[in-house]
Amino acid sequence: MVGKYLKVQCKCGNEQVVYSHTTQVVKCGGCKEPLAHPSGGTAVVHGKIVAELK
Ligand SMILES: [Zn+2]
Repeated sequence: MVGKYLKVQCKCGNEQVVYSHTTQVVKCGGCKEPLAHPSGGTAVVHGKIVAELK
């Protein structure tokens, strides 16, 4: 399974790098809201994806 890193912007404005196939809930470092949930494959991202990192 090939994952990638996504830069996600939370609704609070914080930007954070999230692994696209994370197996853990990723919380925003600013407001502690969950930014991504694992789903067995590609994570469900709740914020806005602003960039994909290689
Ligand atoms: Zn936030």
